[in-house]
Amino acid sequence: MLKTKRMSIVPTFVCTLRCRLCSNHIPDFQNPPRAAVDEMQADIDSLFALFDHIEWLQFVGGEIFTHRQLDQVFEYCKRYDAYFDRLIVETNATVMPTDKELSSLLSYGRKLKVMISDYGELSRAKEQFVEILERNDIEYVLKKYYGATESQHFGGWIDNTLCQDLLEPDDYVTKQAAQCAQVRLENMHVFKGKLHRCSNSLFLSELGVCVPNQNDYVDLNDGTDLEGKREIIRRFYDYPRKSCHYCTWKSGDSAARYGAAEQEKKR
Ligand code: SF4
Repeated sequence: MLKTKRMSIVPTFVCTLRCRLCSNHIPDFQNPPRAAVDEMQADIDSLFALFDHIEWLQFVGGEIFTHRQLDQVFEYCKRYDAYFDRLIVETNATVMPTDKELSSLLSYGRKLKVMISDYGELSRAKEQFVEILERNDIEYVLKKYYGATESQHFGGWIDNTLCQDLLEPDDYVTKQAAQCAQVRLENMHVFKGKLHRCSNSLFLSELGVCVPNQNDYVDLNDGTDLEGKREIIRRFYDYPRKSCHYCTWKSGDSAARYGAAEQEKKR
């Protein structure tokens, strides 16, 4: 039996914003990659071949609604409807979904939950989106990321942009990574056939600054047997991985906080 609490599918690294402290390192990508519809559908088939149950099946970017073809993916997920509890979409509300994407999302009813990172005046589609969600009795969360730093969601952002081994002692990394929110939530991330144990592992690896060790991720398309993959996944959170040595999130509660979404010019 293999389960996870969170599974995040990343449709695109393209974003409408360029946040200086982006936790997913998006402004560092010269040519942000994007997954094709058939690649995401293949990943979804692979995931539900491996997992018996996923609590939250999430779509996370970049800004997912820059993709413009996600209706085909949201509809595809319905064939696995019995095997996940909630469909979650995360957006910065700078851009509305297409009519087809919106229609597909709304068809999920109370199974859908929309997580909106509210960047104040940057989130210019927020009011329109929220009005539609309320009218259709869809659950949503507004994470306030504007105004005084201490008033922001979780007291603001953590700076995780160094992108290098922080050279911390192994016992510190082991202790802190075990308490990391991504670990507690088993928040796996998948992009183009690569399944990582957390977002930082995926994005740093795609950026090429942290080459993961063997078994730090699973290649869904490498032809190895399902049970072998499941065994690697079962051990995902047993010990810290290479990306944990590059990561300030593990310091969680004690890490300094900064105002969210400060926009930077193109590098
Ligand atoms: S790299 Fe390690 S410490 Fe950082 S978010 Fe991922 S699991 Fe947590």
